[in-house]
Amino acid sequence: MESLAAFVEQYVEARRERLIALSEEIWRYAEVGFQEFQSAKALERFLEEEGFTVQKGVAGIPTAFVATYGSGKPAIGFLGEYDALFDLSQQAGSTDRALFENGTAGHGCGHNELGVGSLAAAVAVKDYMQEHGLAGTVAYYGCPAEEDGSGKMFMAKAGIFDGLDGALTWHPSSKNAVDGCSSLACIGVLYRFHGRATHAAGQPHLGRSALDACELMNVGVNYLREHMIQEARIHYAYRDAGGAAPNVVQDHAALYYFIRAPKVAQAVELRERVDNCARGAALMTGTTLEMTTTDGLCDFVPNQTLSQLLQQGLEQVGAPHFTQEQTALASQFQKGYPAAELQAKQASYEEDYGPEIARRLEGKPLMDLVLPLRFDPKASPGSTDVGDVSYVCPTAQLNMATYAIGTPGHSWQLTAQSGCGIGHEGMLAAAKVMAHAAINAMEHPEILEQAKAEYEKATGGKYLCPVPDDTKPMLDGVQ
Ligand SMILES: [Zn+2]
Repeated sequence: MESLAAFVEQYVEARRERLIALSEEIWRYAEVGFQEFQSAKALERFLEEEGFTVQKGVAGIPTAFVATYGSGKPAIGFLGEYDALFDLSQQAGSTDRALFENGTAGHGCGHNELGVGSLAAAVAVKDYMQEHGLAGTVAYYGCPAEEDGSGKMFMAKAGIFDGLDGALTWHPSSKNAVDGCSSLACIGVLYRFHGRATHAAGQPHLGRSALDACELMNVGVNYLREHMIQEARIHYAYRDAGGAAPNVVQDHAALYYFIRAPKVAQAVELRERVDNCARGAALMTGTTLEMTTTDGLCDFVPNQTLSQLLQQGLEQVGAPHFTQEQTALASQFQKGYPAAELQAKQASYEEDYGPEIARRLEGKPLMDLVLPLRFDPKASPGSTDVGDVSYVCPTAQLNMATYAIGTPGHSWQLTAQSGCGIGHEGMLAAAKVMAHAAINAMEHPEILEQAKAEYEKATGGKYLCPVPDDTKPMLDGVQ
């Protein structure tokens, strides 16, 4: 009997050229959050051609969709992202900085590979279900605006992931490892102050400064830092400094805050305290305050049962098979990275995985081995809206090597590698691993039971949405 790994290999490889073409198409579109119209359409079309039923424009977001095949239980979902980043346009495979067709945005987080890799996994599971008469549902979730906008949170709030027995996803990376690490919950709030403009020298007593309100709010929050939990993070940016003239009292000014904490409940509580700093600043300055929640997302709760299943798949499928040319190109990219960065990366392998693995990785431009599963009790300081899905159902994430070791995140070098063979090989390998894990889960209901029990213990089986009920997705960006 053929092994499961052989089946998934065959299903994914049968579509190799089409999957790569789809990934390159989305890479070329490079559409930013909530604007992924062409990318979503291309993914939807591919899934329809594969016999999936596609529900478009879910959760009030035109570029969010759900594609399903089969019916009933067990139900496994794959999460796909396809949004790009501003200012990261770059030619595919080029180690010199060069814009792609005068573009501005680029896939500097590799979400073109992410979206298509998850799609390839869903299609491979469908093939297996057809060939082996396996019952259940496989779903692909088209999730927009991961970078900025929290698409999955709005989808979770609308109940789009309800009824799933498990969700699997992956992220482009420099390593081949299952991500057993949590990430911080985060809430985005825009604080807009309105005052009264006057001649700053002539009638200062008649002016009420919105800029003063912003500054006082920041002072308040900076004092608050001493009295919040260590792991929390608060950062802000001026979205409106009230104008360029010092001799006009600023009647408008705005701050954009991100409030992060290890658990969503902590972020919600901290946000209330930051809101109070804003209220206090408005009171002190005689201005009025307008608060808008722009987005928010939960911490990621890694499901260990499903993570182990992904690890099993990863060990069966193995690392991506990079060609000599791809390895040489990755090495060329590495030459442009600071030596200190590469040393720090090497030190992190030693710390996380021990000296033996670190030694095997020494000097390698691309990771060609599979790292052991590890659960890190420390949350990684970033945030992802995969967290919201992890509060709705058992969820696990994989990392697969799609770029050279030492490549900075959100960089033009990452855009370049996401549009060429290095990224594509990682994407195809990720699809095989996820399909392997999903089929295994569907064939073993007891594994899904265990995953569910673990999820309920970790979350209380309840989704705590990080934003107020009336929060709407910022479809045209934060204004
Ligand atoms: Zn990303």
